[in-house]
Amino acid sequence: MRYVSTRGQAPVLGFEDVLLAGLARDGGLYVPEVWPALSAVEIRGLSGKSYAETATKVLVPYVGGALGDDDLRQLLTEAYRGFGHAAVAPLKQIGPRHWLLELFHGPTLAFKDYALQAVGRLFDWVLAKRGERVTIVGATSGDTGSAAIEACRDRAAIDIFILFPKDRVSEVQRRQMTTVDSANVHCIALDGTFDDCQDMVKAMFNDQGFRDRHRLSAVNSINWVRIAVQIAYYAAAAVALGAPDRRIAFAVPTGNFGNVFSAYAARRMGFPIERLILGSNSNDILTRFLASAEMSMAPVEPTLSPSMDIQVSSNFERLLFEALGRDGSRVAEILRRFREDRRFRLEAAAMGQIRGLFEGHRLDDAGTVEVIRRVYRETGELIDPHTAIGVAAAERSRLDPGMPIVSLATAHPAKFADAIERAVGFRPKLPERLAAVMGAKERFQGMPNDLEAVEAFIADRVRS
Ligand SMILES: *Cc1c(COP(=O)(O)O)cnc(C)c1O
Repeated sequence: MRYVSTRGQAPVLGFEDVLLAGLARDGGLYVPEVWPALSAVEIRGLSGKSYAETATKVLVPYVGGALGDDDLRQLLTEAYRGFGHAAVAPLKQIGPRHWLLELFHGPTLAFKDYALQAVGRLFDWVLAKRGERVTIVGATSGDTGSAAIEACRDRAAIDIFILFPKDRVSEVQRRQMTTVDSANVHCIALDGTFDDCQDMVKAMFNDQGFRDRHRLSAVNSINWVRIAVQIAYYAAAAVALGAPDRRIAFAVPTGNFGNVFSAYAARRMGFPIERLILGSNSNDILTRFLASAEMSMAPVEPTLSPSMDIQVSSNFERLLFEALGRDGSRVAEILRRFREDRRFRLEAAAMGQIRGLFEGHRLDDAGTVEVIRRVYRETGELIDPHTAIGVAAAERSRLDPGMPIVSLATAHPAKFADAIERAVGFRPKLPERLAAVMGAKERFQGMPNDLEAVEAFIADRVRS
């Protein structure tokens, strides 16, 4: 399998290089040169298989032989071994045709563990094989940081630097990052928003000298392999509910568009995904875009669902590339204009394609609290604020009444105890994994939103 950039100007890469590269050299994102497909027979064959086995079958075409199938299976089996539920990604029914897909059974209790536990091990494998090392820099709006840190801590060939927006992540989220006591882990509290953190990471990647000197690498969802690994839970849920013979819809609370782009990829692989329903909080650039065909940036507003407090959805570029017939120069032109004007309007044909599959619904904080309260009253399930936004979007969607909808439960409710308490009047019980971080010592560096200062901090601490 080979990978091309969404902006058409970067070298075509194989799996190993795409794993290490993150952002492409032309500023674009890597996508497969062709979408691999599984046949109906192959999809039917996934029925009753373990999660690791399903993930292996889905990933084999993307890995393209770089790692043997048995080694890949073993790596994925290890990645999911420590998860807190035997099904890894269990489905739980909350309505006549509505299911939750619980993606919070990994070490940091949010969906990002599902990709990162595999990606950390894949990094280890490729770096050991090549005798190389990397510096991972990442921006986090809350959950990526801890998931990346858990995936990379104490790995000999990796130093990891995570930027988070100061005072804009929850206490639990911050502590999950800052209490990790490993020499290769560094947390930076940036004076700014998540978008500032993300821009800073992009600026470091665009600083060719710095990038090469420290062998920068990314585990943000701009990294293709993360997107690929996530396809597995869409595949597993679809098969559990009757794929390839029964069509299905997914509702996904969305920030950076990384999670839901994996659903798009699953559809391109042949899984019968009929509809993708986006949920956004008040930072609703995507839902406004779906309604108006105009993408326009607005200031980021802090909400009860901080992992979605994002205005620029990086991974949307991958969908744009597809909707524009894979014309990289058009993508580059549109995004250049977007940077300058903070807005762009998408032509009708491309827009029609996107609307044929995607719809979006917005929910503010008051609505989020209301949904958490109602779902608890109706089903006894506690859902986190991000999940609530997806659930509300699913409920507003007007699909065939017979079609199953799966809402992704992207975080454990205990990670957002304040919101839960507001909704139901009590705090969820902390799982053991979380209780430990609440008392531990924190270690992080506050920094201004200044590229030079952050680069100097990193240069100082990278181990050689
Ligand atoms: C990261 C995150 C999201 C948003 O996912 P994207 O891939 O950025 O769209 C939603 N919910 C939770 C709990 C998250 O951590």
